[in-house]
Amino acid sequence: MHPELTGAIPDSRGINLYRADGDAAALFRHYLPQDLFGHLEPHFDRLGALAGDRLDELAGVADHNPPTLAVRRRTGEDCNRIEKHPAYVEMERIAFAGFGLAAISHRGALGWPEPMPPVAKYALTYLFVQAEFGLLCPVNMTDSLTRTLKRYGDPALVARFIDRLTSLDFDTLAQGAMFMTEQGAGSDIAATATRAEPRQDGAWALTGEKWFCSNPDADLAMVLARSETDAGLKGVSLFLLPQTRRDGSPNSYRILRLKDKLGTRSMASGEVRLEAAEAYLVGERGRGFQQLSDMVNSSRLSNGVRAAGLMRRAVTEALFIARRRKAFGRTLIEMPLMRRQLGKMLVPAEQARTMMFLTAQALHRANEGDPIGAKLSRIMTPLIKFRACRDARKVTGDGMEVRGGCGYIEEWSDARLVRDAHLGSIWEGTSNIVALDVLRAIARDDCLPALERHAAALLDDAALDSPAHALFTSTLAKVCAFAGRAAAEKSEALAREAASALYHVTSAIGLAHEAAKTQLPHRLAFARHVLAHRLLPRDPLVAENEEAVLPGSEIV
Ligand SMILES: Cc1cc2nc3c(=O)[nH]c(=O)nc-3n(C[C@H](O)[C@H](O)[C@H](O)COP(=O)(O)OP(=O)(O)OC[C@H]3O[C@@H](n4cnc5c(N)ncnc54)[C@H](O)[C@@H]3O)c2cc1C
Repeated sequence: MHPELTGAIPDSRGINLYRADGDAAALFRHYLPQDLFGHLEPHFDRLGALAGDRLDELAGVADHNPPTLAVRRRTGEDCNRIEKHPAYVEMERIAFAGFGLAAISHRGALGWPEPMPPVAKYALTYLFVQAEFGLLCPVNMTDSLTRTLKRYGDPALVARFIDRLTSLDFDTLAQGAMFMTEQGAGSDIAATATRAEPRQDGAWALTGEKWFCSNPDADLAMVLARSETDAGLKGVSLFLLPQTRRDGSPNSYRILRLKDKLGTRSMASGEVRLEAAEAYLVGERGRGFQQLSDMVNSSRLSNGVRAAGLMRRAVTEALFIARRRKAFGRTLIEMPLMRRQLGKMLVPAEQARTMMFLTAQALHRANEGDPIGAKLSRIMTPLIKFRACRDARKVTGDGMEVRGGCGYIEEWSDARLVRDAHLGSIWEGTSNIVALDVLRAIARDDCLPALERHAAALLDDAALDSPAHALFTSTLAKVCAFAGRAAAEKSEALAREAASALYHVTSAIGLAHEAAKTQLPHRLAFARHVLAHRLLPRDPLVAENEEAVLPGSEIV
């Protein structure tokens, strides 16, 4: 429970971010298997309490005390150590060991005997990120490196590292990273210049520079390097780079400096020079990028989920303030214009949450070998990464404004949220690159029919009245025709419009479906709002009552 309020500035520190979120429990219950929801609910509650209190406090401290790089010991020896603030280390313990966030897809954790489905992992991530964003990059890279290694790595290589990568003991845990970007090869990975030379002992020697490396002191990193004489992507292979060589000596690469970043300031991102570093080939030579795509896609989905969580935190804070802060003798929430503003934050936040669950369900089906699930997850991943990360920039910014002047002050969470939110659209593929990937998912991987059929099935199951059903159905058909045309004609300039439209129609149908299947009828109002404001033609000069979108169930 939050403490007694004193003074005129409401302080949300101490609220439980799970209980404060009116729809969370019903949605988690809807998307999770019944027994798993029952098992996880106390953990959701515990994480919600932590995220609204201790984790939030730690996140603020770590944000203001970024890591530093030590390159020399006091005895004069070279070293490559990142000094992390104790607040960050405490958060690492909570994420990796306390909740097993990096391991939960690979082994039993949190008292559950087997790996949990993606919906469970993302529900926990969604709560955690409401306090801390930066750390979830290393958490996700550890999880997705493990997935990629298991999928493509030689069994002996997997056996060597799997226990440490999935350890729930913080002191034996091995963290993961991904070194892909170079000065001349960012979006255009085909320009990778780092060289890989085979060694006599079966390992490889990597030489070159990686320009953006988050979690650069990780125990293991997946690295792209040019092993073949072929130009472009065909010459690039995937390697596992350990921090320590097989003989136990430090590997030959150096962190040259750390980046001074706008956001994710708690977590280190650096530049790395590889000096004939020992590394092991993962999978097939010349298929490095295709194989790493699995890790990239997993990171893209994680980014979409994190954007959804950041938006939810901004909404929860804004509602908390609006119910308590007074101006002109009224609380802010009584004011029609404020209610309209809150509604405009809430809808994109809830669209992102719905897409998170739909994509997680698709990924689960794909993991189980279902080819339709694979197509759905292939297209929904760039959809959520593209649109939710962009929406998070705006929603967190609007949340900052609801707190008024205090929102701009660094002792509140708003500034951190805004700074972190801007990164989601840049890393793991910029907005343009990810929108172009949506067109590729349609043109090359033929994912559109699967998405259209899935959305139509959800719609049929949503028990809408027939005019509403007809409107959603015709909008779905129009959007799919538009996106299909853009992909077939390779209209790159339309990629963002096509991706946005597909995201909006899918999330709107998902919201309508949730409204029918849970006790949350207001989610149908969100769905209608998305249709009216994002997809259907409308006259901006016709007055509408947008207040209706703000439900009474928001209990902050
Ligand atoms: C804090 C941070 C941490 C990072 N951590 C990592 C990490 O751990 N590992 C890693 O490998 N990378 C990491 N990155 C790198 C990140 O993924 C790249 O910065 C990103 O992919 C963009 O590459 P770039 O910077 O070279 O930009 P560029 O590729 O030069 O892009 C510049 C602009 O051109 C646009 N553009 C490029 N191609 C096209 C096109 N075909 N059509 C239209 N527009 C286009 C882009 O959208 C962008 O707006 C990190 C970046 C940041 C900021």
